[in-house]
Amino acid sequence: MNYLSTRGHPDRKRFSDILLEGLAPDGGLYLPETYPQVDAAALAELRRVYHEQGYAELAFRLLSLYIDDIPADDLRALCEKTYTAQAFGTGEIVPLRHLEEGLWIEALSNGPTLAFKDMAMQLLGNLFEYELRRRGETLNILGATSGDTGSAAEYAMRGKEGVRVFMTSPDGRMSPFQQAQMFSLQDDNIHNLAVQGVFDDCQDIVKAVSNDLEFKRRYRIGTVNSINWARLLAQVVYYFAGYLQATQHEGEKVSFAVPSGNFGNVCAGHVARQMGLPIDRLVVATNENDVLDEFFRTGVYRVRAAADTHETSSPSMDISKASNFERFVFDLLGRDAGRTRTLFGEVLAREGRFDLSGDPAFADAASRFGFVSGRSTHADRVATIRDTWERFGTVIDPHTADGLKVAREHWQPGAGVPMIVLETALPIKFAATIVEALGREPERPARFDGIEDLPRRVSVVPADADVVKKYIAQHAG
Ligand SMILES: *Cc1c(COP(=O)(O)O)cnc(C)c1O
Repeated sequence: MNYLSTRGHPDRKRFSDILLEGLAPDGGLYLPETYPQVDAAALAELRRVYHEQGYAELAFRLLSLYIDDIPADDLRALCEKTYTAQAFGTGEIVPLRHLEEGLWIEALSNGPTLAFKDMAMQLLGNLFEYELRRRGETLNILGATSGDTGSAAEYAMRGKEGVRVFMTSPDGRMSPFQQAQMFSLQDDNIHNLAVQGVFDDCQDIVKAVSNDLEFKRRYRIGTVNSINWARLLAQVVYYFAGYLQATQHEGEKVSFAVPSGNFGNVCAGHVARQMGLPIDRLVVATNENDVLDEFFRTGVYRVRAAADTHETSSPSMDISKASNFERFVFDLLGRDAGRTRTLFGEVLAREGRFDLSGDPAFADAASRFGFVSGRSTHADRVATIRDTWERFGTVIDPHTADGLKVAREHWQPGAGVPMIVLETALPIKFAATIVEALGREPERPARFDGIEDLPRRVSVVPADADVVKKYIAQHAG
């Protein structure tokens, strides 16, 4: 399998080459040249594999379709090491929870940091360690986080040979639980940098360091952000696992509702659907930061200014632009790299928006690609958390509540197409909103008891890229 850039760069790459890279050299995102097809017979075989051999083997079978430069035995071992009942809480790894007839929640958040990002990041940690060892190289990962990404990355990379993590976060702005999760890690290869500023300052620092090409090369700076193809690929697996649990036969269809920010999660659903998984609708749910809902309703993609980006009670979806969206637009435009390059490289840079409302491709987005969308507000998510608790006795987190709220707008009970809402975090990570909705604290998994009282390992730094560079230079591997 070869990979290409959405902006038409002539080079073709293998999986292991793009694993450690971010953007393609022309600023595009990597995609496979074609989507391998899974027909009904192949899906029946995957059903048998999942039920008899489990999630890790399912992951291996699907990843094998995209990765042909890691020996099969090694890839299988990496999957088995990653997707264990010990790390993810159950043998099913991503069990479905029944709400009502035809409506399910897929539990993706029982990994080490209690958010769905573990599903991909845990595999990425093992892939990085494997590939760096194979090359005899080391990597210093620099990132910016407002919560879930940073902790998922740190728990995936802790103790890994050849990898160091330098994670910036806005000082004092993450939830107390998220701060405790990250700052209590005592591993030598994990460095927490609390920046005196806001999340944008952290992102600016990462950008400034990465734009210093000499520094970047000298200290082998890498990233683990959501545009990484391996992360997206790992997420494709749980769409298959959700489908296989909700159906009995290969002819049946299901829909997925996905709480969305950077379009990474639901883009994996798009890939699964392009492979032939019988997905009816892909429901994109946003919060008040409704860049994506606006696009799917109107055909206009409009990046928001910082002042227009709201701080909400589903903070992991607070985005001003959706960094994976270019992948879908490339497919939507019939894989026209020239047009994709013009839209993302020129029009968006110049005008902050582009408009596909008059394009026949946009008119077909729902029928050809299954995409529909909706938006949820603070009042909606509080009401949904309360309603779900009162009627079904289950507590969901604010992001999942956004997904469920929008899912109900598109779900047709009784029509025979199950709706699966992806659970992207556990409620304990966002306790304040749960208390507001239910008047009580969410449950805390036993292994996190007293986490706030553990000793902390964090350096507070000014919002200054030079200070961060100096820190990295002193601590790089
Ligand atoms: C990251 C995240 C999201 C958004 O996922 P994308 O892949 O960026 O669309 C939603 N919910 C939670 C809890 C997250 O951590």
